[in-house]
Amino acid sequence: MILTTNKDQLSAQIKDWKKNGQRIGFVPTMGALHDGHLSLCETAAKNADKLVMSIFVNPTQFAPHEDLDSYPRTLERDIENLNNQGIIDLVYAPEQADIYPDGADSAIKAGPAAQGLESDFRPHFFDGVVNVVYRLFTQVNPDIAVFGEKDFQQLQVIEEMVADQAMDINIIPGAIIRDDHGLALSSRNAYLTADELETARMLNQIIYSVAHGISEGVDPDEACKNAAEMLLKAGFDKVDYIAYHPTWSRILAAAWLGKTRLIDNCALPEQD
Ligand code: AMP
Repeated sequence: MILTTNKDQLSAQIKDWKKNGQRIGFVPTMGALHDGHLSLCETAAKNADKLVMSIFVNPTQFAPHEDLDSYPRTLERDIENLNNQGIIDLVYAPEQADIYPDGADSAIKAGPAAQGLESDFRPHFFDGVVNVVYRLFTQVNPDIAVFGEKDFQQLQVIEEMVADQAMDINIIPGAIIRDDHGLALSSRNAYLTADELETARMLNQIIYSVAHGISEGVDPDEACKNAAEMLLKAGFDKVDYIAYHPTWSRILAAAWLGKTRLIDNCALPEQD
């Protein structure tokens, strides 16, 4: 596995692979890798010949009061994990100057899928994501890229960006990987205390019960309002949102445990 921090070395390697007709798969991450990230690599491997993962904690998607400084950075362990998995061909771990050589201004903004939900609470977030993903796409020049359904709204925003910019990249969704209690794996779970972890495991149960209720005919607003109360009763400190998105046929939620913000979502059960 090649590890590079250098965008010229990245480009040279990609050109070489493409010259040989190999299709490039890309998995962008912020590191602190877990089985969710590794499963995206497996999905990518089914759809490409050579795989690139980026590890870059992107400052433009954090607001000043958010956890940019404390975000877990575990590059050595990540590399060891990837070497053990043996799927990724190249890890690109750029410096900020490689991604934002002339500052972070960007003409590319997030589109309509970014409206509401996350943006109501993190208004800077999707513009920051689109900014970095556009730049990474330009540098890596992949044929396919895999994004997790864990960040479902983000996946929609990226698909929209690729269509708007007419980029020839196939965006492939990766299923949400959960622990034995259904908690969606997240780098931020590392912040949770043992007690908070217990409570965190209620989030998926509650969104699944909302999804089930709505599919059985319960009024969505009523179901979501009750669920927000259940989350608070279960020990969450604050609920940013728990909402039904009819177009996506999904329940999406964001809630706080102490200083940790968790997000999760699930599809409504298939109806016969
Ligand atoms: P992050 O490093 O958290 O920015 O995430 C990088 C990619 O991994 C994104 O496409 C996420 O949606 C995806 N991801 C994060 N957690 C999970 C998970 N539990 N299951 C599947 N994909 C995930």
